[in-house]
Amino acid sequence: VEGYRALILDAVFPRRCVTCGAYGNWCCDPCLSKIELVRRDPCARCFSLKVEHECETDAEAFDGMVVGGFYHDPTLRALIHGLKYHSAHELMEEIARFLRRMRSERNAPWPWAGEKEIAVQPLIGSERRIRERGFDQAVAIGDAVIQEIIPWATSISALERAPSLAAQVEIEPGPLRSANVAGTFRFLSNAPIPSTVLLVDDVCTTGSTMRDAARAFRAAGVKRVYGFAVAAGK
Ligand SMILES: [Zn+2]
Ligand SMILES: [Zn+2]
Repeated sequence: VEGYRALILDAVFPRRCVTCGAYGNWCCDPCLSKIELVRRDPCARCFSLKVEHECETDAEAFDGMVVGGFYHDPTLRALIHGLKYHSAHELMEEIARFLRRMRSERNAPWPWAGEKEIAVQPLIGSERRIRERGFDQAVAIGDAVIQEIIPWATSISALERAPSLAAQVEIEPGPLRSANVAGTFRFLSNAPIPSTVLLVDDVCTTGSTMRDAARAFRAAGVKRVYGFAVAAGK
């Protein structure tokens, strides 16, 4: 029945590349291969992409941070945007292909290469958002990261999100956005405490959400925290 339904849907809404409109897939091979990759991992403390920069934040450094591409890239942006705001779960196939590209074109070892045990924690959205969309894109991306990049990792769900004042993306970056994020996540008291965690999100802009989740994990006793985002928002 699933296949039949997909067939009907494909006939009514044929898949077209989000960038060039070519029929066949939500992202054609040439457009997928043109997405610019971030070739150097961001600063693990302030998430700056520049080699030489003033590390302004006094935040605790992550044990490693990886981002895939740039949110201003039209193709990557269209894929993430469609996944996030149009509940287009099928776009996960294309994001998984992008993750495979990241893996195959990476020159350096992953920062977590030496970790024997690592737990992947998606930066879950608010319950209202998940209800609206029918799925949580961070969870879907977390699963894809395990499948495509860290097959030995386990998936965990050890955070809960405190009700937020407004969805992050509706607020311009700045003090208000930071205030909105403060205390976003709580560690679930009954969850087992992993020694090493990889936090996964779709877009990392200021990094405040990811830092907040890292704080919750460290306070619970997690030793090492890594971060991963499909795209850098800056
Ligand atoms: Zn295309
Ligand atoms: Zn820095």
